[in-house]
Amino acid sequence: MDQTRPHRSAGTRPDNHLDDRPGIPASPARTGAAAEGLQTARSPSTADDPHRPLLRRALQGWRWEDVDLLRYKQEGSAPFRDVTRQVLFAQAAGGAEWRYFEVAPGGWSTLERHEHTHSVMILRGRGRCLVGAQVHDVAEHDLIEVAPRTWHQFRAAADAPLGFLCLVSRERDRPQLPSASELAALRALPEVARFLDGADLAPAGPARPVPVTHPHTDPDA
Ligand code: MN
Repeated sequence: MDQTRPHRSAGTRPDNHLDDRPGIPASPARTGAAAEGLQTARSPSTADDPHRPLLRRALQGWRWEDVDLLRYKQEGSAPFRDVTRQVLFAQAAGGAEWRYFEVAPGGWSTLERHEHTHSVMILRGRGRCLVGAQVHDVAEHDLIEVAPRTWHQFRAAADAPLGFLCLVSRERDRPQLPSASELAALRALPEVARFLDGADLAPAGPARPVPVTHPHTDPDA
């Protein structure tokens, strides 16, 4: 057993920890326009770091060692509310990326579709999801497959978060948002309209600030 491993908590990691590692050049503070310039770059998550330890321990609060808490998407790039993203594995050789998303109570992911598939396992909490024209209640350890070109959205319950693992290909197309006519077609189904309105889940309220520890975003998450 490694007695030298420091005890860490998600709340005490410095934001600039990347810069402390051997072989990784120090970077300037990423604020304002500099941060904007990085918004379209692939996330420099520590999942890409060849020096990362092979074992990264679970921390309190659904965090993991050496895994950054990221914004779900760039603010304003697509509709969503109260979602965070962590890239657990990004296999350059295997071509897969395994992420953990967490939707806060009352929050939702973007309604979107794309060519790539999602393989999802609910890890924490409960909520509902739309896949195609079907609305499902989902809870811990349920598996959800999102096929190519299928509209999908995840919504947390009003009183519980919805945390889920999502496996994707590293090389993937960007999500499409529904056009007005596509949205109207979806809303023609009463159950889907209720889902999209969040009517069965949560009253509307102010969105909470997302407590990210790393400023980078990956808009094609
Ligand atoms: Mn998607």
